[in-house]
Amino acid sequence: MQDLNEDEIQKEINELKKNIPDYKPISAQGRLEICATCPSNTDIGQGVRVCTDCGCLLALKVRFPFTSCPLGKW
Ligand code: SF4
Repeated sequence: MQDLNEDEIQKEINELKKNIPDYKPISAQGRLEICATCPSNTDIGQGVRVCTDCGCLLALKVRFPFTSCPLGKW
């Protein structure tokens, strides 16, 4: 294996970064705004809204960083 100096390592890192898609975490509010325009967002009464695709309570689901939209919207 070839030894790389610091500049060459940085150059390799910069090349790798170009191939990684931007990862921008969306806030809970941002997620709710996306859900607000979605036909799967359903009021089940008393202002409680669920996603009919995953069955989750949206007010809770959007707050957990490990959750995701089943339709890939966020
Ligand atoms: S989680 Fe996705 S599919 Fe469900 S209501 Fe939100 S945007 Fe729609």
